[in-house]
Amino acid sequence: MKYIDEERIKELLKNTKQASSSEIKAILDKAKSLKRLKLKETAALLAVKDKKTIKNIRLAAGYVKDAIYGRRIVLFAPVYISNVCLNKCLYCAFQAGNTAIKRKVLSIDEIKEQTRWLLERGHKRILMVASEAGISGKSNADYYAEAIKAIYEVSAARNRIKRVNINCAPLNVEEFRLLKSSGIGTYQIFQETYHEETYRKVHPQGPKNDPDNRIDAVDRAFTAGIDDVGIGVLYGLYDYKFDTLAMLMHIEHMEEKFNVGPHTISVPRIEPALGISFIEDMPYKVSDEEFKNAAAIIRLSVPYTGMILSTREAPAMRDELFGLGISQVSAESRTSPGGYSSSNDSGQFMLSDERTLDEVIGKLIEKKFIPSFCAACYRKERTGETFMSLAKPGDIKDKCNLNALITLKEYLDDFASGKVKKAGYKLIDGLSRKLDKKSRGQLERFFEEVDKGARDLYV
Ligand code: SAM
Repeated sequence: MKYIDEERIKELLKNTKQASSSEIKAILDKAKSLKRLKLKETAALLAVKDKKTIKNIRLAAGYVKDAIYGRRIVLFAPVYISNVCLNKCLYCAFQAGNTAIKRKVLSIDEIKEQTRWLLERGHKRILMVASEAGISGKSNADYYAEAIKAIYEVSAARNRIKRVNINCAPLNVEEFRLLKSSGIGTYQIFQETYHEETYRKVHPQGPKNDPDNRIDAVDRAFTAGIDDVGIGVLYGLYDYKFDTLAMLMHIEHMEEKFNVGPHTISVPRIEPALGISFIEDMPYKVSDEEFKNAAAIIRLSVPYTGMILSTREAPAMRDELFGLGISQVSAESRTSPGGYSSSNDSGQFMLSDERTLDEVIGKLIEKKFIPSFCAACYRKERTGETFMSLAKPGDIKDKCNLNALITLKEYLDDFASGKVKKAGYKLIDGLSRKLDKKSRGQLERFFEEVDKGARDLYV
């Protein structure tokens, strides 16, 4: 596969024996000073077995996330717009020929209806997800561009969607330019596995069969001017240590060629899916403990990146991962097209966390995180290299915390249940007391505006 030197990764995994405690400490100190780790250092962390050192790795991951982004965790919801697919990904319910699910391509009106449903519950950020299919009469890119514009048009009371990210199959540069001009935020694409033989085996049919076309989608998106790109591997397809190191090698390529790493890294892990037997005899199943280690080690290796956790994971696992470096989470998700307004079981995989947005926000508050709906960086053009230059030294967190507190107050005023309101205002009160005088004054002025009815305020 392009950009991935499999032999080097295998060698690193084979030759990196358990490092001494002073070597591990030096690596953790380097990560805590917010420096990117080298592949060899990441391999040393992946090789750690003893419980005490694993605990230190996880604590360091939480420390690094807080040092870069503060205590905020951004919330979003996916909108699946289609599940008709040309590919045959062996693990996915949307695979061509799976008769266990109903197929649907949402109309623009239906996409607006889904958006309204989310806005009415307090959501402000959407990840639009699409299968890879021919839409009759128009190109996929035209359909996505129309859908993005439609989502931004919807309003519910004083609220609108602030940011639409998209997860879709590779496009060409012209098509990416079209998405960019219709206002997408991050373009997200998971390589699934960087192990070429496995990649070809689990994608036997359809355009997704070509791993180089997929990995090059990231380069094409950058070339088209989309400067926030998100990547990930689907944990469970191949050896998690190999895939973690390979993803970091992919990141080195991005940094070298574009001077920008991934805006986000997602950590999806395979879930059971309707009509799919693949998961029953998966040879590379990733245990809960291994999964937590992988997430923490990614955070330490790429301190500046946003890390995304979906509702594939169960509540207890998610609650724990919040503290291991995750900076964005989905809530109240449905993975079938139209799944918010009508109940149907044509989802891409089984959801493990079915809590409402209010319940997830309640849990975040209980754990002293600041639930955030901020999208200020994109409005202020803090994207790509500009974002990286603020994120890398940890300079973005003051803005993140302030914006998170503003958006939390907006949510509490408009949508929260009584219990969450009470806990949320208490959190805001406690945290604002800790701000310096200037920031506290700034926050108070924003809150006065919110009280007067203004929404979508940010610094
Ligand atoms: N067509 C787009 C593409 O080519 O990337 C979207 C693919 S899918 C709708 C979004 C992601 O869901 C996939 O990239 C894959 O990582 C993940 N996924 C697929 N099946 C899954 C399963 N059974 N459990 C968990 N995640 C799954």
